Amino acid sequence: MEKKVLAFSEFGLSDEVLKAISSIGFEEPTPIQEKTIPLLLQGKDIIGQALTGTGKTAAFGIPIIEHTDRTKHGVQAIILTPTRELAIQVAEEMNKLGSFKRILAIPIYGGTSIERQIKALKKGMHVVVGTPGRVIDHIERGTLRLRDVKTVVLDEADEMLDMGFIDDITTILKETPVERQTLLFSATMPEKILKIAKRYMRSPEKVRISTDALTVPETNQIFYEVRHDRKMDALCRLIDAEDSDLFLVFCHTKREVDGVASNLKLRGYDAEAIHGDYSQAQRDAVMKKFRESRIDVLVATDVAARGLDISNISHVVNYSIPQNPESYVHRIGRTGRAGRKGVAITFVTPYEDKQLRLIQAVAKTRIKKEKLPTIEQALESRVEALKEKVREFIAGKRFGIFLNMAERLSIAGIEPIDLAAALLKFHLEGLGREPERQEGLSLDDTGAVPGMVRLFITVGKEQNVRAGDIVKAIAEKTNIRGKDIGRINIFDKFTFVEVPRNEAEKVIEVMHQSIISGRKVAVEPAKPRK
Ligand code: ADP
Ligand code: MG
Repeated sequence: MEKKVLAFSEFGLSDEVLKAISSIGFEEPTPIQEKTIPLLLQGKDIIGQALTGTGKTAAFGIPIIEHTDRTKHGVQAIILTPTRELAIQVAEEMNKLGSFKRILAIPIYGGTSIERQIKALKKGMHVVVGTPGRVIDHIERGTLRLRDVKTVVLDEADEMLDMGFIDDITTILKETPVERQTLLFSATMPEKILKIAKRYMRSPEKVRISTDALTVPETNQIFYEVRHDRKMDALCRLIDAEDSDLFLVFCHTKREVDGVASNLKLRGYDAEAIHGDYSQAQRDAVMKKFRESRIDVLVATDVAARGLDISNISHVVNYSIPQNPESYVHRIGRTGRAGRKGVAITFVTPYEDKQLRLIQAVAKTRIKKEKLPTIEQALESRVEALKEKVREFIAGKRFGIFLNMAERLSIAGIEPIDLAAALLKFHLEGLGREPERQEGLSLDDTGAVPGMVRLFITVGKEQNVRAGDIVKAIAEKTNIRGKDIGRINIFDKFTFVEVPRNEAEKVIEVMHQSIISGRKVAVEPAKPRK
């Protein structure tokens, strides 16, 4: 039995925060979020313990954003993290969560120019995410004041202690008001952490999520390295090549579900979509089709799929890599057919390596890397499958009126072997050639100046986007410097920007579905100018 999980909308959060959560693509809270968000909204201190990858950032991030007042000056929350990477990552998530409330978060860390950070701090930041050393540096220079702080978070507290930050943490805590909310998150809870908690927290509640429940089902787990814009072709190839009952394909967002399902239909597959926006009647219709075996592929979001009573799923495909290990385990748990092991397939883009490793580590499982079947292999296995079916059918001799048709064709002088070949061609047509690329997504023909690639981004003047916002968004998320970014043309509803050819794929990868000026954008290679 699955227990009913609270929905984000049941926490009493503001619309802006709910919108941000849904635009990031979170469908429902993870266990640590479900337990901590209500406590934090009440202003309680908590000690949270849960493994990596279980969504601790949003667990404290959502209440912090909810409590932050955009119009107030002064830093209202400070989050301390052990490393620079983590500071950047957490600040990014805070900015996403705060995008609709227009709350600003900044990462501050050592090993990089302090001047830029000072300038940003002067502009007025609501939330600071920093490594202890650099935070103290700013405090000493007077460029960071913590008097107005309402919430302090010690993220990955065990690691911070291991790295010897204990004195720094104490110093920083003393700079903040006594009347503050203090949160501590840690994967482990050694004695020295509990000591800090005792000294600096007000009767904290302990929230502990054990992950013993993560049992990976008996499944053949595979991943393919696939670039974002090649996923559709890869999926089709697999559906063609594999001997399957039903493919259950998981996507990140409702929009992606709709996109993938309609693309599959266009290519001639019996595909259906299902997600939270579907009415009960629509769901019933999909289920009916499914029971009548009129669907080969069902495309779904995590939550929509959970409610479905479907048994003979031969393949689960993570079209988008799951956002956390729990979701991975739930998803692949859906495969299984009588007597045979199911197959769980994950598409991993070149920049999702880390996420893949995290899933394997937390779920304590191994996912094998494999190569996509070639077109020839796909055809070959279809013919094999067909051979079996045809044999069985001939043995049963239930031809009906079709026998008569065949005789007529044969009398008309068509050789049986030619007839069979022609029918095979009709049946398998489309397999032997590369499916057409979607919307001309070539990097080599985008109408950019030589050495550059022109990208199409779905925000423009109507969203008040300025060239600076585009440059900033790219520079923050990639290693490209502002001066290496080429021409930017902003139109009412979209924007073109040129980036260096050798970085273009990476830019698309990280910018696609990211948030610019509070809006989730699609990024793809531009089509050449007419
Ligand atoms: P932790 O701090 O516990 O290691 P993170 O906060 O970094 O974990 O989250 C791990 C991943 O899970 C991130 O990619 C994050 O975007 C994703 N995630 C967090 N909350 C949810 C949610 N409610 N639904 C889906 N994915 C989530
Ligand atoms: Mg974390």
